[in-house]
Amino acid sequence: MSCLFCKIVAGEIPAVRVYEDERLVAFNDINPQAPMHVLVVPRVHVATLNDLTAEHDGLVGEMVRRGTALAKARGFDGSGFRTVFNCNAQAGQTVFHIHLHVLGGRALAWPPG
Ligand code: AMP
Ligand code: ZN
Repeated sequence: MSCLFCKIVAGEIPAVRVYEDERLVAFNDINPQAPMHVLVVPRVHVATLNDLTAEHDGLVGEMVRRGTALAKARGFDGSGFRTVFNCNAQAGQTVFHIHLHVLGGRALAWPPG
């Protein structure tokens, strides 16, 4: 398996893990764009949002709820935080294993660049 995030999930490449369970792993982004920049990824390989099916609905819900819980644990539930899924090239997706970015700890501009 050549997928970078599959290798992180498998422990073959190091990452600073902040949460894991049977279905998800969350770890710090190696190039953080905010004081909190965590990636929430499923253990199962799904390349892009385009590959999701109804069978993944529960999994995606867990990703969103876990990212929210991690932001809340750092006190960003009231001040605000951002969750982002990039899909394919024009959105800036560079790792083709779905991941939810969770960014918090600074004011974030909108619209995104
Ligand atoms: P995206 O551009 O949405 O595909 O996001 C990929 C993210 O993965 C980027 O924010 C990268 O900084 C991050 N990233 C790349 N390699 C690693 C790594 N080895 N460990 C943690 N995060 C990584
Ligand atoms: Zn993968």
